[in-house]
Amino acid sequence: MPLSNIRIVLVRPTHPGNIGAAARAMKNMSLRSLYLVAPESYPSPQAMDRAAGAIDLLRDAVICDTLDMALKDCHLVMGTTARQRRIEWPGLEPDGCARRLLDGALEGPVALLFGQERTGLLNTELDRCHFVVTIAADKDFSSLNLACAVQILAYEIYRASQVYPGAHVSDFRDGRPVKGEEMQLFYRHLRAVLEQVGFLDPGNPRLLMRRLARLFNRAGLDHNELNIMRGILTSVQQNLGNLDKNTQE
Ligand code: SAH
Repeated sequence: MPLSNIRIVLVRPTHPGNIGAAARAMKNMSLRSLYLVAPESYPSPQAMDRAAGAIDLLRDAVICDTLDMALKDCHLVMGTTARQRRIEWPGLEPDGCARRLLDGALEGPVALLFGQERTGLLNTELDRCHFVVTIAADKDFSSLNLACAVQILAYEIYRASQVYPGAHVSDFRDGRPVKGEEMQLFYRHLRAVLEQVGFLDPGNPRLLMRRLARLFNRAGLDHNELNIMRGILTSVQQNLGNLDKNTQE
């Protein structure tokens, strides 16, 4: 059932009432998988009150210390934001986002991230996202209440699940999709090699890793392709080792 693979992740929520209201919004739309990353105050009676008949979702919610933990097994991540950022992430409308999530959910867990009430999602959190979704709103007052934003996206997902047959998009892939955790290890490896070859200056990394993450997110690697990339990086490192030895001899 694809809907059960769609994970709603509230990142660092501060108001427990919003957590309860988000759970209710989800259950109304047949979504059940709620993850809370470092909630400021939880569990809480306020969350229970606002959840009304969705207390079961709160009871089953997964609490994580870090976003990495919440996204470990996800191969597709969407972020929601009211703000335009300096370096733009590829954007989707809520309905397009819903269709992509349903497609992705056929292959494994996927996540939709919501930011903290005050700050929204930080750029480092958006770095984990394949796409960013904005709900169209008044240009001078575009920031919705957190639970209201959850409601709108949950409704789009529910609607799409009713009318959209779920075209399987993985035809071009030879291997299984890459999980969030594996992608993070790849980026760590890539960064290490870029530093070793002198392409990335650790003292002045600029936005290079963010731009590269955007590139690889757009490409949507499968597991075989990831192994090729890791193999290339490892052979660069081995050859660098040999070069060092040759210059020392
Ligand atoms: N000041 C923050 C707003 C945070 S509102 C900012 O400018 O980003 C809390 C969360 O609700 C946001 O992080 C986002 O997940 C969601 N949200 C609020 N308004 C939204 C909108 N117009 N489109 C998409 N998500 C929105």
